[in-house]
Amino acid sequence: MERIRIVLCRPSHPGNIGAAARAMKAMGLDDLRLVAPERFPAPEAEWMATSAVDVLQRARIHSSLHDAIKDCVAAFALSARPREWSPQVLDVRAAVVRARELANDVAFVFGNETAGLTNEEMFACQFLVHIPTSSEFSSLNLAQAVQVLAYEIFVAAGAAVPPGKTEKLATVEDIEGLYAHLEEAALDSEFFVPGSGSRLRERWRRLFSRVPALEREEVNILRGLLRALLAKRRGQ
Ligand code: SAH
Repeated sequence: MERIRIVLCRPSHPGNIGAAARAMKAMGLDDLRLVAPERFPAPEAEWMATSAVDVLQRARIHSSLHDAIKDCVAAFALSARPREWSPQVLDVRAAVVRARELANDVAFVFGNETAGLTNEEMFACQFLVHIPTSSEFSSLNLAQAVQVLAYEIFVAAGAAVPPGKTEKLATVEDIEGLYAHLEEAALDSEFFVPGSGSRLRERWRRLFSRVPALEREEVNILRGLLRALLAKRRGQ
């Protein structure tokens, strides 16, 4: 992650700079470079960055794209539209794989909101990267394009959603205990009349078999309820 820098060329709207910083921080990136921003620093950038103002404060400003990428081993230009003449084209996922293989400092370079990247800026990079979109409309908002790239980088780095709280699962014995308890309650309440031909037992087995992983605590709750109902009925 430390090897990846995000370069915004001539951004017009400071709000987009802030939103890009936020998109980066949420995905563990923090090296933001601004090439000749129209207006920066600016309050709109801070509003949009929210808790990522630290990324903004550390952002370096360069007067040329060359200056922002000269110490990188590769630069990837992001473009909303294919060009007749361009460096090698990669989709965003393939670009992230390539960047990781290089295992050195690399830059992802974004264009101005209205004009995109100039030809000169694009050819200063070795790759042209496209985020797949509808063929009807391919132009994402600048900060949203940064978000998609940053997300791909994060996922490629092996990000996993932290597992929720894990509970002890019910064993076969626990579940059989529940069935026995259900049967006892069904007989005791005369809800189930033996010999009536009802398929009650099979039905609740089918029902519970559709629950992928019953937790022991869940089985205990149901059994506790049945126990309480039976005790009440028996006047205990
Ligand atoms: N009208 C401009 C679009 C600018 S959007 C044009 O046609 O080029 C601002 C920047 O966001 C673009 O320069 C590019 O770096 C990035 N971007 C937007 N949509 C993208 C997409 N589908 N794929 C890759 N980059 C995209």
